[in-house]
Amino acid sequence: MHVDYIIVGQGICGTFLSWELQKAKQSFIVIDESKPFTASKAASGIINPVTGRRIVKTWMIDELMPFAWNAYQSFGEKLGINCITQKPIIDCFTTPQMRLAFTERYEKDQQFLSLPANENDWLPYLDYDFGYGIIQPAYLVDIQTLLTSQRKNLLAGGQLKEEHFDAAQLENKETSVEYKGISADKIIFCDGIAGYSNPFFPNLPYGLNKGEILLVEIPGFPATHIIKKGYSLVPWSANTFWLGSTYLWEFEDDRPTKGFYQFAENWLKQTIKMPFTIIDHWASVRPATLERKPFVGLHPADNKMGILNGMGTKGCSLAPFFAKQLVNHLLHKEPVMADANLGRFKKVLSR
Ligand SMILES: Cc1cc2nc3c(=O)[nH]c(=O)nc-3n(C[C@H](O)[C@H](O)[C@H](O)COP(=O)(O)OP(=O)(O)OC[C@H]3O[C@@H](n4cnc5c(N)ncnc54)[C@H](O)[C@@H]3O)c2cc1C
Repeated sequence: MHVDYIIVGQGICGTFLSWELQKAKQSFIVIDESKPFTASKAASGIINPVTGRRIVKTWMIDELMPFAWNAYQSFGEKLGINCITQKPIIDCFTTPQMRLAFTERYEKDQQFLSLPANENDWLPYLDYDFGYGIIQPAYLVDIQTLLTSQRKNLLAGGQLKEEHFDAAQLENKETSVEYKGISADKIIFCDGIAGYSNPFFPNLPYGLNKGEILLVEIPGFPATHIIKKGYSLVPWSANTFWLGSTYLWEFEDDRPTKGFYQFAENWLKQTIKMPFTIIDHWASVRPATLERKPFVGLHPADNKMGILNGMGTKGCSLAPFFAKQLVNHLLHKEPVMADANLGRFKKVLSR
């Protein structure tokens, strides 16, 4: 059997790459082992246009937000699902300094920031001492539904192998690659944190980052907004909310910890004024990079191998955009933008 591409991994990167290749009428096989706590499955799905204590706009957000909205809308239409909604963020100030920083920023730039008409209106549900600001538009992506629906679609079309990809069994030939009887013009790795030990792309500067979350049932709590007060409380499914997350650059393993559970439980007790039940506790690792920029493109010394990875904390907004750039590069030789282009590691990868 011959296909144009083998894709390794069906997280948010492999999912969008498969969709772009479907639209471009390219043949491919996705190989993905179904693991429960991958970054895409643990993510809350927020696209937040601002970041940090100074509430500055995130990298490329003016381009990424409209692109993401259209991409999730049209992918969702094809799959018969709704996988993106607008969800304003209630940014609760935890100190007077935070309040000041927000209002100063708001006075300079109101593109994404606004102030509430009545800042007591969340007090029936939440404890907050210094008021809040609103970040909007912000989006919430239903990654779980998107991944599951595209997986069904790929399985129905015979385009998905649910198994572990074993790098030792890949044969790299003159003009093609071959894996267990499937030959392909190119293989593209969308393997998330496994990219860190991918033998074909050694020494890339990953900076893996662990995050933990709780799933919490809070009957009657409004699901109209995302609440941010140190942690984020994000509508997940009926009466269930995602609470997280931590950002740990140093960690011993990828398992949930008691420490986070206790911290997050206290947060709930101190913040939420309604009865709640903790129903689950997950940990996962983000495929982040030291430069905080993705890895996108073909291997500088072997153009039969490519990569779409390193989305860090922002897979929801970056993956659709860079999957499209990668496919435009593969099919039309359009350059991948310099900040994300794998070519910047030519020396490292040619060692
Ligand atoms: C707690 C947490 C919260 C987050 N919240 C957000 C958020 O709100 N918004 C946002 O934009 N981003 C968020 N992120 C980041 C986002 O999840 C990641 O950027 C994104 O999911 C990375 O997607 P990926 O496809 O590169 O990797 P993954 O989702 O890890 O997918 C890789 C896939 O490859 C498969 N795979 C790997 N190796 C092999 C192999 N050898 N054989 C077969 N299959 C293989 C894996 O099983 C997996 O299915 C969050 C991350 C975490 C951990």
